[in-house]
Amino acid sequence: MSDCIFCRIAAGEIPAELVYEDDLVLGFRDLSPQAPTHVLIIPRKHIATLNDLQPEDEAIVGRLYSAAAQIAAREGLAERGYRTLINCNADGGQTVFHLHLHLLGGRQMNWPPG
Ligand code: 5GP
Ligand code: ZN
Repeated sequence: MSDCIFCRIAAGEIPAELVYEDDLVLGFRDLSPQAPTHVLIIPRKHIATLNDLQPEDEAIVGRLYSAAAQIAAREGLAERGYRTLINCNADGGQTVFHLHLHLLGGRQMNWPPG
């Protein structure tokens, strides 16, 4: 989708600091980091929200999480911990409508989230 900012990042049309790449997903640093490590992991395929997941996308979702764990390990976060989350639609706080998994770490996270 040419009007989707994350599709454009995946296509290399908009620069991003890539930290992970494979056949299904890529990870890059958030432009407005909310923690010392804040990486977004996205599918190469355009999926607008979690609501739009199809049964055939299950492998992609699994890969989002295994990529997050690999990135967390590389960033030295595995032992102390980190948070992964997906925002969905307005109440969830989603602002970019291309599915993405946030990986946040390097500070103590709060609960409940805001
Ligand atoms: P959401 O609120 O949809 O869950 O998260 C969208 C995230 O994308 C936000 O944390 C925002 O800072 C990040 N973001 C928006 N535009 C860009 C961009 O062009 N490049 C990067 N690296 N991050 C972006
Ligand atoms: Zn997209």
